[in-house]
Amino acid sequence: MAPPVIANCVAGSIGIVDGILERLDPETVLLLTGGVSYQASGAAAAIDAATEGRSVERISHIAPNPDLTEIDAAIRTYRATSPNLIIAVGGGSVIDFAKTVRSVAPHSPTALPYALGRRTPGPSKAPMLVIPTTAGTGSEATHFAVIYVDGIKYSIADPSMRPEYVVLDPELTYSTPPAVTATAGLDALCQGVESYWSVRSTASSRDLARRSIALAFGHLDAAVNEPQPASRAAMCSAAHLSGRAIDISLTTAPHAFSYVLTSHHGVPHGHAVAMTLGAVLEYNAAVTEETCADPRGVDHVRTIMADLISMLGATDASDARGAFDNLVLRVGLDPTLRSIEAPLDETRALIASGVNQQRLLNNPRVITPESIVALLATAR
Ligand code: NAD
Repeated sequence: MAPPVIANCVAGSIGIVDGILERLDPETVLLLTGGVSYQASGAAAAIDAATEGRSVERISHIAPNPDLTEIDAAIRTYRATSPNLIIAVGGGSVIDFAKTVRSVAPHSPTALPYALGRRTPGPSKAPMLVIPTTAGTGSEATHFAVIYVDGIKYSIADPSMRPEYVVLDPELTYSTPPAVTATAGLDALCQGVESYWSVRSTASSRDLARRSIALAFGHLDAAVNEPQPASRAAMCSAAHLSGRAIDISLTTAPHAFSYVLTSHHGVPHGHAVAMTLGAVLEYNAAVTEETCADPRGVDHVRTIMADLISMLGATDASDARGAFDNLVLRVGLDPTLRSIEAPLDETRALIASGVNQQRLLNNPRVITPESIVALLATAR
């Protein structure tokens, strides 16, 4: 189920925050923001005006890829202030951070048992308003959040983690530098592709994913290299649609492979996912009856893969991989594992040993420890 989108990818939508605050009339607001992005995006002016006269506790400078220690410190702040409204303004890192804090804080002083899967978040006391400043993750639409504990990635999931209010304003993304626009946009594109082929896809998630892929594949290059309002708005929609798609289908192998590249080598999330998407696309397209993991059968997966190949303007899987890698290059990033400063064999071994097994189960072609090695050998 999608969250109620109060304002949807229209430049200037941030202005509606004033009305939301008036309606909710919170006594105390917990405001979670990034460092640079809060001012640079232009959100600060609108939020500061809308919250004037209210008690606002701000946690700022939330860094990329939320870390348990920082989250637990924010949980202490939440418990000390008992906010009536949480506002998160930033990229996926800030949003995941805020989703975790608001879900855990009323029930526990630490997010650790939730990250380890020993506890599940319960209903939250305060509603949450999310305002993304990147066009990429779609985290505002999902029921899960990624957090890192000692460099290992964990996912906390519960339907109650979906925000109640979302404001999508493409203008807030105008200040993202090309590298952030590229990595965030690739995350949206990869989420769309993975959602489309996921064993958990439904007709409705595939419809969301198809729309997201068309927008991201068609507009990411322009959003990075010659950004105009139209390409920014298209990427804003692509990101949100991809979030709604993975909220249903979850992600698959490229995401499972990516987390270790982010935690060990600092590769930004969307770039890390893009590094193996082409190899997995070719792998999945070669599905057989014996290797099919989707209960709907091999013909279903073959149709899905043919659809995807055609969405990428290609005629076969190798061409589709080329088209995808080409886009990654055009947005200024290297689609290969060779760009990581480590011997290629070491990087492949690192991915194989650190792979997220849960996400692998959603892949439409079975991936065993042996096939990971063969698959990664094709990731150049
Ligand atoms: P990010 O939030 O990590 O931000 C990247 C950089 O961009 C930061 O330095 C930030 O300060 C800067 N930035 C953000 N907005 C800006 C703006 N408007 N102007 C200038 N600079 C700006 O990047 P992201 O790609 O949005 O998020 C990645 C995170 O989201 C990862 O941790 C990933 O795991 C998570 N994620 C979560 C979900 C979900 O559904 N929960 C889905 C996908 C990704």
